[in-house]
Amino acid sequence: MADPTLRVVFIEDFENPILDGLNLKYRRIGPLRVIFCLECLRGLQPGGSGTHLTKDHGKDYSELSRSGVIAVIYDLHLSTEDQIRAFSSGLVGSVVPALDFVDVIAGWKCIYCNLIFGSEGNMKNHRSSCKPAEGPIIPLKNVPRVPCQTILTGKGKSFFEVIPKEAAAAIDNQIQILKEIQVQQSIAADVQAQATPQPRGSIELVGATSAEETWN
Ligand SMILES: [Zn+2]
Ligand SMILES: [Zn+2]
Repeated sequence: MADPTLRVVFIEDFENPILDGLNLKYRRIGPLRVIFCLECLRGLQPGGSGTHLTKDHGKDYSELSRSGVIAVIYDLHLSTEDQIRAFSSGLVGSVVPALDFVDVIAGWKCIYCNLIFGSEGNMKNHRSSCKPAEGPIIPLKNVPRVPCQTILTGKGKSFFEVIPKEAAAAIDNQIQILKEIQVQQSIAADVQAQATPQPRGSIELVGATSAEETWN
């Protein structure tokens, strides 16, 4: 099994008084826009935030104006379940720093196709249908266990491999250093550019604004 490619996904958290007051967090993860419940530590189905609050938390948010909350959520243009699943599937074979607001669990990783499963039952079912013509079915005890996460639970569930927080923090530091080096280089390039004028915008600072970065 080849080592997975480390991918760093651009993440941005947004303050929103109404959502924050309901213990929800709106954030962008790469191309996705998702609302997380900070009490359950999971992403919510688009359109399901209101139901989640009333059904799972018995919250009466009428005092905050139900229609106001719905309007706020509507304006965020949240990613659909399919978009979230497609994004997660796109991470097969990669590993990303663990996301906040979501539990990390020990999943099972198929050595043939790299798919990640969050439950033993699902891995068992998968094993029999996924193997090379000549290959053996891997005994469950030999299936690698990997830390993984899913943004949505339930129907839209799709697991991806993560590296735990502490390791992710070290990578964050590395990226910070790389960004600083790039800034210094761009300043140096600007100084040079005074001698030989170049069009602005030819120097790109990767990371600050790009939706996604790949790190090998
Ligand atoms: Zn919740
Ligand atoms: Zn497989």
